Amino acid sequence: MAGLDIRMFPCLSDNYGVLIHDPSTNHTAAIDAPDEDAVLAALDEAGWTLSHILVTHHHADHTQGIAGLKRRFNCHVVGPRAEADKIATLDETVGEGDTWRFGPYEARIYDTPGHTKGHIAYWFPNPGVLFAGDTLFALGCGRVFEGTMEEMWSSLEKLSRLPRETLVYCGHEYTASNAKFALTIEPDNTHLQGRAGEVKEKRAEGLPTLPTTIGAELDANPFIRANRPEVKAAVGMPNSSDAEVFAEIRRRKDSF
Ligand code: ZN
Ligand code: FE
Repeated sequence: MAGLDIRMFPCLSDNYGVLIHDPSTNHTAAIDAPDEDAVLAALDEAGWTLSHILVTHHHADHTQGIAGLKRRFNCHVVGPRAEADKIATLDETVGEGDTWRFGPYEARIYDTPGHTKGHIAYWFPNPGVLFAGDTLFALGCGRVFEGTMEEMWSSLEKLSRLPRETLVYCGHEYTASNAKFALTIEPDNTHLQGRAGEVKEKRAEGLPTLPTTIGAELDANPFIRANRPEVKAAVGMPNSSDAEVFAEIRRRKDSF
C-alpha cells in the first residue's frame, strides 16, 4: 500500500497538530484540533481536504478547533467514549480494544486515563505510529489532572509494550524542560545525556523534537522507566511499587 503521509505542525504556544493522509482514499484526518487556522494552513500547504478528526481528550487545547473545522468540511469526528459528555462535537465514540479504519489502515484504541479520565491513544500497527495525546511526552508524561497516579502509570505501562520502533507523536513540545528534569532523576543515564544534547540542538535551530519512539523513551524517559531498579534506587525507593515510584517522580516534576 502507498505510505500513510504524516505532517506535524506547531500551533498555539506549545501544541502540535498532526495530519495523516491516505492517498488511496484521499482521506485526511487531523489528530486533535488545537487551532482551526493552524489546521487549515497545514491542509492548504499539503493540498488536502479534511475528512476526519481523531480526538485524544477533551481539553480545550485539543478540541477548540473542531466546531469550526466541522462546519467547513463536514468531517467525521471520532473521540473518547468516556468523554462524550464533554466533547459535544463527536460523531463516533471509541474506547479500549476498539479498532478504527482509515482507508487500508487500522487504528487500535487504548484507554489511557490519568491526564484526563477518558483520555485515549490511537495506535496504527502498520506503519507503526502512536498518537499519544497528553499521556506520553518525549522524556515526560502529562500531568495527572483527573485520574489517579496508579491509572496514569498503567496507561504508560500499556504504551511501553508497543514495539520499540513505534513512532510516537505527542500533543506538546515540552521536551527541553522534560530533559532538564529527567537529568535530575538519572544524571548518569547515557541515553538520556545523548537525548538532552540532541534536544538542545534541535530547539536552538527551532526544530521539533518529535516524533520520538517507544524505544527511545524506554531508554531515557524517567516516567516510563519507573519500574526499573536503577530508577527506583535513584529516587531512594528501591522497595516501592512501580506506581509509587512513578507517583514520586510525577510529584517532583510538578514542583520542578
Ligand atoms: Zn491536555
Ligand atoms: Fe494539551
